[in-house]
Amino acid sequence: MKVEILAIGDELLIGQTINTNAAWLGQEMALRGYQVQRSTAVEDKPEAIVHALDHIVPSTNCVIITGGLGPTKDDLTKYTLANYFKSPLEIHQATLDQIAAFFASRNRPMLEVNIQQAALPTKAKILTNRLGTAAGMWFERNEVIFISLPGVPYEMKTIMTEEAFPLLAKRFQGQTLYHRTLHTQGIGESFLAEKIADWEDRVRDAGLGLAYLPSPGLVKLRLSSYSGKENQVRIDQFFQELELRIPAHVFGYDDCTLELALGTELLVKKATIGTVESCTSGLLARHIASVSGASAYYQGALLTYSNDLKVKVAQVNAQTLEKYGAVSEQVALEMAANGRRILGVDYCLSTTGVAGPTGGTPEKPVGLVWVGLSGPSGTTAKRFQFGDERQRNLEMTVLGAMNWLRYTLKTS
Ligand code: ATP
Ligand code: MG
Repeated sequence: MKVEILAIGDELLIGQTINTNAAWLGQEMALRGYQVQRSTAVEDKPEAIVHALDHIVPSTNCVIITGGLGPTKDDLTKYTLANYFKSPLEIHQATLDQIAAFFASRNRPMLEVNIQQAALPTKAKILTNRLGTAAGMWFERNEVIFISLPGVPYEMKTIMTEEAFPLLAKRFQGQTLYHRTLHTQGIGESFLAEKIADWEDRVRDAGLGLAYLPSPGLVKLRLSSYSGKENQVRIDQFFQELELRIPAHVFGYDDCTLELALGTELLVKKATIGTVESCTSGLLARHIASVSGASAYYQGALLTYSNDLKVKVAQVNAQTLEKYGAVSEQVALEMAANGRRILGVDYCLSTTGVAGPTGGTPEKPVGLVWVGLSGPSGTTAKRFQFGDERQRNLEMTVLGAMNWLRYTLKTS
């Protein structure tokens, strides 16, 4: 099913109200496998509403309209829709009874404008609003469904959930979207796209949808099919192919996070881990420990930001620091190897880098980070070169370090 969302209200256009209705509807539609093709917001004016209705995306099956159903003079949606669908208004008795009960229960008098809220288009199926006085309306024309709902978010959500979604589910059985998302770390979007160009061609030839969803350090790949689970096996096969091609980067599917993926590998290998952190200053520890049950593998951290503490606490050789500087392969190696011994863990990660934006030199520019990894089969260090933005550099360091250990465990 293809959906269009039409939000009505000047307050949305001047930024006074954030269009959370569209966000919620978008999420709920996606969960049910319905495809939102367009979402717009228009003024509270009949001509603006009519123009939007005249210009919906041609393949749309259902338009969800929110806002402008209240009792005040600026609420013109109902009258506009009644005109648009050439439907007279008549008092809808069940709605009137409900509005009367609404006011009685609050001990407030019912005004004429409230009675008028029960005057509803005779051509519409009425969707009960349990929480307010503006009923929802369901119109149909030329195979397109138009659902009009109040703008108040909790009323809109309740009518959608209790009334509209069950009706839509009956009408559009089987025409749902199936999708699966694969997570990668440490490979840029354009680099990845180039590397898997032939795979992408075959995915598209198979009639599947592909989306790249990048965020700092991570790229998600989502494969989708509009014929329900029919293509589930095909999608799994495509992803398995990628797992074989870029195993160092693929770490999980759907709700999996890198923290979870690393935790799982540590549990499988029954291994413990600690961290010795300089530039990340505890951020790596925080990420690793963010998983429920992390105490089964995570032992703790040494936070050695200064050179002094690198020597005193992490027992880095003062001469190594003097000779190579704090941001160096040698120091990262010593931090990791010593940390493994001091913390008594199977694996130890260390971080040391120039997070920026200040402090860079020609030999050690901003964004240069060394990550050390010490384990049962030795100690190595990896050089990363990130960008200028401090917070981003730290997040990227953490992701890079966790994924390196995850892959090391998986292949050990
Ligand atoms: P009412 O009976 O309250 O007048 P209504 O159907 O006329 O309901 P509006 O007047 O458009 O709806 O909006 C009512 C309230 O809901 C306002 O506070 C408005 O800011 C909020 N609202 C309207 N549209 C949206 C939206 N798209 N997203 C989030 N909030 C919204
Ligand atoms: Mg209103």
